[in-house]
Amino acid sequence: MNTPYQILLYYKYTHVADPEAFVKWHKEICEQFGFKGRILIAHEGINGTLEGLTGHTEEYMRLMHEQDGSEGTFGNFSDMPFKTSPGTVDGTAFPKMKVKVRKEVVSLGLERYGEEDIDPNKITGAYLEPAELKKWYESGEDFEIIDMRNDYEFKVGHFKNSVNPKMDNFRDLPKVLTESEQLQKIKKASEEGKKIVTVCTGGIRCEKASGYIMKKGFQNVYQLHGGMHKFMEQFPGEDFLGSLYVFDNREITDFAADKGIERPVVGKCDVCQTTTEKYTNCANIECHLKMLCCEACLTDSIDEAKQLITELRNGDDQTKEREDEALALEKILQVAKGFVFCSDECRECVGMKAGKVVLAQ
Ligand SMILES: [Zn+2]
Ligand SMILES: [Zn+2]
Repeated sequence: MNTPYQILLYYKYTHVADPEAFVKWHKEICEQFGFKGRILIAHEGINGTLEGLTGHTEEYMRLMHEQDGSEGTFGNFSDMPFKTSPGTVDGTAFPKMKVKVRKEVVSLGLERYGEEDIDPNKITGAYLEPAELKKWYESGEDFEIIDMRNDYEFKVGHFKNSVNPKMDNFRDLPKVLTESEQLQKIKKASEEGKKIVTVCTGGIRCEKASGYIMKKGFQNVYQLHGGMHKFMEQFPGEDFLGSLYVFDNREITDFAADKGIERPVVGKCDVCQTTTEKYTNCANIECHLKMLCCEACLTDSIDEAKQLITELRNGDDQTKEREDEALALEKILQVAKGFVFCSDECRECVGMKAGKVVLAQ
């Protein structure tokens, strides 16, 4: 795919003295260059992803690398790695530009447990470069890979033999870590010398996740430097199975198709288990959980919902209750992409006692 646009993904944990001023500086640049995306800035650092015309993104990277921590700069970003991938054909990966000040650029929500936040400058896993991980795979090294992303991200692609803690949200990690027998077993193995590697999309979540599991007693902890993104850039179609979920309108990217490399598809429809890489959201707007759903199931679910509406409205026993149900269904059809629910609770939540609408397994 040929496109004049490029997408950048980047982060760095480094002290930012004045996040507000850095946000202001960013807003001006983003507007001047017509960037779209999302940038979070905190005292602990920066986390950003944006799309722009390639010349402009290059200029932005240069301007950021000029920030070297000296007088008059916002912090030391001179060595900040940027991950790049081809943008959309028309620059529509993101709906708008958001630049915001945050308390943390990535949150484990540890304050809920009365715990202090993880500072990756003090505790974090050792960096493992993509080439090193590749070598581990090839030499049959004894190690465990823990995927620190959410379950819906894992579904469409992941590292060979990796462990999925099945989180709905990154903030679930503290809970999952205590409750998962599998993770506790891995912890024990790590105490006996086994190597542990944490992985995520671009590496930022692992900075805290690897530090957190170390704090909880895991030994020999590494984090994949630059994340799956960097690994796939270097080794497209190898060891990472499927495609990479990304937080923009592309939804997935694979680094292989551009280079004419074949790769496996591992995503499966949550409803019928057919191979698919299409995402939809739980039709309960309050839940909105990302699910994989094939084209056929999506169409079927909508048809079924329409039929249900007709049935609710026809018939001699018209009640207000039936009409309310029909209206609820119609409302969802207007906003949701499909008509699939992640659970019975979600289906009941929208008042569908008729229960015919497709439910994921
Ligand atoms: Zn299906
Ligand atoms: Zn749901």
